[in-house]
Amino acid sequence: MKNKLRDFLTTKMKMSGPYQPVIIKCLLENNGEASLDIIAKELASKDPEAIQYYKDKLKVHPKQVLKNHEIANLEKDCYKFADDILFSDDEKLELIKIASNKAEEYYTKNPFSDFARHGWGNLRHKMITEHPYCALCGAKPSPEIMLDIDHIIPVSRGGSDEPFNLQVLCHRCNRGKGNDLIKSAVDAHDDYKNHQEDCIFCNIEKNRIEFQNEYIFVIQDKYPVTQGHTLVLPKRHVTSALMLTDIEMISIFHESKKISDKLEQEDYSIEGFNLGFNVGKTAGQTVFHVHFHIIPRRKNDVTDPTGGIRNIIPGKGKY
Ligand code: 5GP
Ligand code: ZN
Repeated sequence: MKNKLRDFLTTKMKMSGPYQPVIIKCLLENNGEASLDIIAKELASKDPEAIQYYKDKLKVHPKQVLKNHEIANLEKDCYKFADDILFSDDEKLELIKIASNKAEEYYTKNPFSDFARHGWGNLRHKMITEHPYCALCGAKPSPEIMLDIDHIIPVSRGGSDEPFNLQVLCHRCNRGKGNDLIKSAVDAHDDYKNHQEDCIFCNIEKNRIEFQNEYIFVIQDKYPVTQGHTLVLPKRHVTSALMLTDIEMISIFHESKKISDKLEQEDYSIEGFNLGFNVGKTAGQTVFHVHFHIIPRRKNDVTDPTGGIRNIIPGKGKY
């Protein structure tokens, strides 16, 4: 068996991935028997995307909490206990056991958390296959240029791990923007500062703004079609929805989902929404600074709502 194994490892084994040698290594390290769990963990420990994902997470959320409690600090990519503590072996074992149980408790209670759901390596593969270039500079992958997946709205600003909030970036753009795409993109492109003196939305009264970030702001419609009618607008003065950048589009939709959820939670009579842009005078646009309408709908607010936006041409709702 030993010779057969050595022969297999050194001459017969053909690899299309790291699987065979990793399985054999795990078997050798675990007395000839290794669960899928053990082997998969060994593989994940070599998956650069998975490692990068957790490194990014470690730099954001737990850092401040552990610091505030004077437990540990993050210094130069390394966590260190806040004090030079010496533990006896027994103390160390006891605390490791408590920490492991706590982590296990989290995974058991949250089987569908971001951690459990994604399979970062797979997601990366899928996204890069669909978008094989950097979303910021357009670079294609090469031996010098590696593509990463990045959160468009950073997690620290409420962005989610859902695919709609992820983009493909090259290493250089990703490193350059740090955790702050929104700000750096605003700074990088003068167009984002475009402001028109005679535009009512560029000059909106500050007290009408209910929410804003670097890209968008939210106001109540001054002449609401229904109660709760809300507008989400890019800060940049741009006339047509078809001229919005991807990040503006995503920011508008990201915020609209939150607004619609809130409206529904606060007003049980709301049972649906009409969401949309008017693009161009012919299509009915009256203010030429893009705005996304969120129009709550309630039962019987019109006699027959069939067709929704199809009713922009009277009589065409039903087909
Ligand atoms: P549009 O027809 O261009 O899609 O819609 C313009 C929207 O802007 C209307 O729903 C209108 O009620 C809304 N709006 C919100 N605030 C203002 C304002 O201060 N002035 C004007 N003219 N319209 C406003
Ligand atoms: Zn404007």
